[in-house]
Amino acid sequence: MVSLTFYGGVNEIGGNKILLEDKDTRIFLDFGKGFARRAKYFEEFINPRVSNGIEDFLQMGLLPDMEGIYRDDLMKMAGRKIVEPNIDAVLLTHAHSDHADYISFLHEDIPIYMGETCHLIIKAIEERSNREIEREILSYKPRPYNRKDSPIERKINTFRTGDRFKIGSIEVEPIHVDHSVPGAYGFIIYTTEGPIAYTGDIRLHGTKSQMTRDFIEKAKEVKPIALIAEGTRIKDEGREESEDKVYKDSNKIVSSTDRLVLADFNFKDVDRLRTFYNVAKENDRKFVVKLNDAYFLKWLSKDPKLGVPKIDDENIIIYVPKKGSGTYSDSDYKGKEEQFIDRTNAWTAEQIAVREGKVLCGIGFFSFTALIDIKPDPGAAYIHSASEPYNEEQVIDQKRIDSWIEHFGMNKFQSHCSGHARGKDLLDAVKEIGAKMLFPVHTEHPEAYKGTVPNITLVKETVKYTI
Ligand SMILES: [Zn+2]
Ligand SMILES: [Zn+2]
Repeated sequence: MVSLTFYGGVNEIGGNKILLEDKDTRIFLDFGKGFARRAKYFEEFINPRVSNGIEDFLQMGLLPDMEGIYRDDLMKMAGRKIVEPNIDAVLLTHAHSDHADYISFLHEDIPIYMGETCHLIIKAIEERSNREIEREILSYKPRPYNRKDSPIERKINTFRTGDRFKIGSIEVEPIHVDHSVPGAYGFIIYTTEGPIAYTGDIRLHGTKSQMTRDFIEKAKEVKPIALIAEGTRIKDEGREESEDKVYKDSNKIVSSTDRLVLADFNFKDVDRLRTFYNVAKENDRKFVVKLNDAYFLKWLSKDPKLGVPKIDDENIIIYVPKKGSGTYSDSDYKGKEEQFIDRTNAWTAEQIAVREGKVLCGIGFFSFTALIDIKPDPGAAYIHSASEPYNEEQVIDQKRIDSWIEHFGMNKFQSHCSGHARGKDLLDAVKEIGAKMLFPVHTEHPEAYKGTVPNITLVKETVKYTI
């Protein structure tokens, strides 16, 4: 009566798309973009064609080839049969692309459940970026594209931890977990056969590890018949890492220099954002954020629990990049950017340049052209606060970063705390929950879970597992 079918996140990190069926109720747990899968066929100069509707995505296995789940406009363009949607809901664990982005292709009548904070993050992402086919989570414009068409809004239901809600024959209990983005949840799903637990992405060494503990304890208490667990770093021994260490490392670097400091980190990681904001404050420097990241401050400061500074915070400066005319003319920033560039705390590279030792810039590799305008004095610090390269492309990117560092005579530092639990923490968590069956996902090494529980399924894609 109850089954699980995995359409993504199988022997790959991310791209989770897990179908849970209970009698007539059918829900997806996440509906993410599989980056490795996409990169197998596509790159910068070759992309799935929007002119072919959904067909390129289906043919190349980026999306499961199913009826009754996708948007009519894209199915029609692909010459596919249009049928009524037959999915009751999608439960989204968190706002990362590898869990959320391919909701973009789903039929608008399928309700999407997400945490309130997750909703704010997606709003920020969608306001700051141009509409594109792979990122239309909250609303979409029908294709073929017509400027005048108004967007079609999806049905979004938000929840907080402690809420419980029913979808057909199942009941869902979301429980907060700690991860490198706020508004992340695991789920306990009460089915007719018993409870199924799904971790989403978790860590136990972060600032809010208690939240993940809450999930583990609740999962253990309900005695789940099945556990779907992430295993990103299952093979990682783990080293000393914590947000506090990132703070201390960075503070040491910043306090011992009077030169420009750049910090390269993911702005959706609110812990990291707070870390660098505090390091800047501690060292009497202004914290400079990119124009593109100002949307995160705008939306995330609405949730007081996150402690995200407001756009008009006295320690925040917005970096306005050169555009259009190259003269910072008002007409270069028409549209949604207008709301930020008129502020007194909106600075150009030239304004930053005369205050090199008085700023900490949240400026990463993708904005390195700013350095051409800032012309930093030699000896500036570049703090890379993200994971170290782990595949070929990232090694190539790293070389490119190094060239810039060398060109401007900067010093490079590395300090990071991962969003994913270490191997031992994952093994302990899975043992503690003690589910009857384990389905590892979001990992290239599912077999590394052997020995934790008696019944482990090394998942095969599209196979239906009866629970
Ligand atoms: Zn993920
Ligand atoms: Zn994630």
